[in-house]
Amino acid sequence: CGILAVWSPQPTDVAGLLHLGLFALQHRGQEAAGMCVSDGHQVVVEKDLGLVSQVFDEARLDQLRLPDARLGIGHTRYSTTGSNLRFNAQPLTVRSSKGILAIAHNGNFVNAKEIRQSLLEGGAVFQTTNDTEVMINLIARYSRLSLVEATAQAMRELEGGFSVVLMDRHTVLALRDSHGVRPLVIGRRPEGGWVFASEPPALTLMGAELVRDVHPGELVWVESGQLHSLQVLEPHPTPCAFEWIYFARADSVLEGIGTHESRVRMGEVLAREAPIQADVVVPVPDSGIGAAIGFSRASGLPFDYGLYKNPYAGRTFIQPTQALRDLKVKLKLAATPAVKGKRVVLVDDSIVRGTTSGRIVQLLRDAGATEVHVRISAPPIKYPCYYGIDTAARKELIASTHSLEEIRRFIGADTLAFLSEAGVRAAIGGPVCLACFNGQYPAGYPHEEPQKEAL
Ligand code: 5GP
Ligand code: SF4
Ligand code: MG
Repeated sequence: CGILAVWSPQPTDVAGLLHLGLFALQHRGQEAAGMCVSDGHQVVVEKDLGLVSQVFDEARLDQLRLPDARLGIGHTRYSTTGSNLRFNAQPLTVRSSKGILAIAHNGNFVNAKEIRQSLLEGGAVFQTTNDTEVMINLIARYSRLSLVEATAQAMRELEGGFSVVLMDRHTVLALRDSHGVRPLVIGRRPEGGWVFASEPPALTLMGAELVRDVHPGELVWVESGQLHSLQVLEPHPTPCAFEWIYFARADSVLEGIGTHESRVRMGEVLAREAPIQADVVVPVPDSGIGAAIGFSRASGLPFDYGLYKNPYAGRTFIQPTQALRDLKVKLKLAATPAVKGKRVVLVDDSIVRGTTSGRIVQLLRDAGATEVHVRISAPPIKYPCYYGIDTAARKELIASTHSLEEIRRFIGADTLAFLSEAGVRAAIGGPVCLACFNGQYPAGYPHEEPQKEAL
């Protein structure tokens, strides 16, 4: 998911700003979008299933355009827990002893089920199936504490990988779990406003300068125009490696490390780890481009435009059903004549189910490629992510049930190699979570496998 918050010292077009920021975070979730705006008195929310551009037309933005608007939060949704239903769209708002609260989050709480159960036993009622509501209920339960103190207390009780933005009528808060699994950055606007966003490109569009990342285990908020910070939990940084491998935008810089640059390094390391005699390096667009550039540089093999991507087709993986995904691969990619008669190195960022790679290998052969050598700039994904990336249930992950040789045969490649874990670490250069590759979950895991609700 993508999350966003803005606070302005003067009345401003908060809805217009959030709209721009959400547009820059569209890649983080395409199932639903929403925003919540306040002028200090009223709080208005608009959210729905669909892309940002589908949910927010001018009429809908006008609903949010309070003349004295000063603050707001926004969300783009990618469902990991809770099904793809309208009432699961965020921001989620509740009326509590602290007044109206709105929340949007990215990631998962691995102990949400236990906390939900104990809150239910205490008489709480839930309207949604997603675990955002668990956090807001926890906060609302501490009626004697200030909003900041209550939020800090909720942070101490929740486990998992999550970044959150939260608002009441007057202020915005932002926080990350103690491992900083999901990203969250702080930006400053020239007139003194503050922005919190999942990734820096949202700041750029909102006219804000990157100040820094929110630290793991830190709670920040705006009070009287000043940014305040409380280091609630001892930081144990293990940000998600997958943000650099695939998920974050190529123009993002997270924890001071550029995603594009680290993808190029992944490709360079991969070329050294798994060299091959070939004629041309072809990326799977767009996710394989950075690594293919690196592979080409380190191997000396020319980079070429071997696959055309229809820019109107959207991101395949994020489509929730297999039937939709299969159709989308055909709609999305076609081989160019650059591969005809060539031994091709095909570079992509990851293999999840293996269906995309298999289809692409076939496209290249049909277009006259004589050999296809697949190079993947991440290790095999063998374990599920419990921290907000939907790498699918374990039984759907081809690498959890198949050997390297079986995967090679399944996708029809002449050779196949994956980047090593050490290679990922070296290319990113900081401590990272690699749990979907090695099963070592730094921020805990749920007692029971979370089920998508069959509603
Ligand atoms: P598959 O192996 O399942 O057919 O697809 C792998 C492709 O899905 C890669 O090109 C990768 O870029 C893309 N992809 C899109 N979204 C995601 C995601 O959330 N996780 C992973 N691992 N791959 C994704
Ligand atoms: Fe990222 Fe994988 Fe860790 Fe999930 S398990 S947070 S996708 S590295
Ligand atoms: Mg891809």
